[in-house]
Amino acid sequence: MSKRDYYDVLGVDKGADQKEIKKAYRRLAQKYHPDRNPDDDTAAEKFREVSEAYEVLSDSEKRGAYDQFGHAGVDGQAGGFGGGGFGGGGGDFSDIFGDVFGDIFGGGGRRRGPNAPARGSDLRYNLELDLEQAVAGTSVDIRVPRHINCDRCDGDGAEPGSTKETCPTCQGIGQVRMQQGFFAVQQTCPTCHGGGEHIKVPCHKCNGEGRVRETRTLSVKIPAGVDTGDRIRLNAEGEAGINGGPPGDLYVQVAIKPHPIFERDGRHLQCEVPINFVDAALGGELEVPTLEGRVKLKVPAETQTGKLFRMRGKGIKPVRGGAQGDLLCKVVVETPVNLNEEQKDLLGKLQESLNSSNSQHHSPKKTNFFDGVKKFFEDMKS
Ligand SMILES: [Zn+2]
Ligand SMILES: [Zn+2]
Repeated sequence: MSKRDYYDVLGVDKGADQKEIKKAYRRLAQKYHPDRNPDDDTAAEKFREVSEAYEVLSDSEKRGAYDQFGHAGVDGQAGGFGGGGFGGGGGDFSDIFGDVFGDIFGGGGRRRGPNAPARGSDLRYNLELDLEQAVAGTSVDIRVPRHINCDRCDGDGAEPGSTKETCPTCQGIGQVRMQQGFFAVQQTCPTCHGGGEHIKVPCHKCNGEGRVRETRTLSVKIPAGVDTGDRIRLNAEGEAGINGGPPGDLYVQVAIKPHPIFERDGRHLQCEVPINFVDAALGGELEVPTLEGRVKLKVPAETQTGKLFRMRGKGIKPVRGGAQGDLLCKVVVETPVNLNEEQKDLLGKLQESLNSSNSQHHSPKKTNFFDGVKKFFEDMKS
């Protein structure tokens, strides 16, 4: 399936600036967000399309490549897939989320005061799956580096057994008054950053930060039928919150690796099956691969190259429910190679025989083609 133009997807024109692009994306992303459209395949697909368009058009480098080369210039890199590793610190991701989904996810990372509790950042993990894994569902272990609450001080920052003392600078108020010329200005206390407390002995494990960096192995259940662009949310598996705030979520972003035989189109699969020209002419039985093993496909006599055979129910069962898709087999007639003299001779005889009878009979496409050419030149003359 050919992709829609990214500018059309966002409904902006080619010269749109970043502000317009962001605005258009924000509006569409909220409209089609899966959390607001549960069990709606069309909305999910739109959301994926819109996200992809935004990821390209919001990045000046990718946008430049897209403007110059179209989808070919950015394919395979939208979303930053490729390594199956961590998405570069999640820079553009948390950007999008803090900004656009603040209202849905509870305002990730927006802090009021320096010591106010803040929700931890969301994390994204790019996961590449084989088609077989995606279709059957699987369970994968992923290693996620992230901040977690320090278990030594329980996120407090003070060494266990030590006490916090009232901040000597502000006497626990968290604000200090500064005289600036005629004006007295209220300011956040520079010593305790507004907390009003002072850690006497910082925790030995986290140096008083209350959080430590840790790489954890998480087991992620991948439901059967997932496709590129699907996300799996692991509640509270993101970064630890700050000052006792709740942790963020971890999003596992799925991408399916190209398959040597099958091409996926939503819930349908496509594949090409070579057929020799004798089988194509006389009819025959082919062995066709499916994800569940080989099956037989009866090909009728006089099958032309490119003909599609639909095998119902041999596709993919979609993750959001619905009927299992089909497998579309495209037969491709193969020209024989490495012929010996005898075989060439036989083909020559076949050729003679075909020519001696009514050729219109044997090559319907060729006949149509040359009739068309003849008509084309006749039209030109008149
Ligand atoms: Zn600690
Ligand atoms: Zn203070």
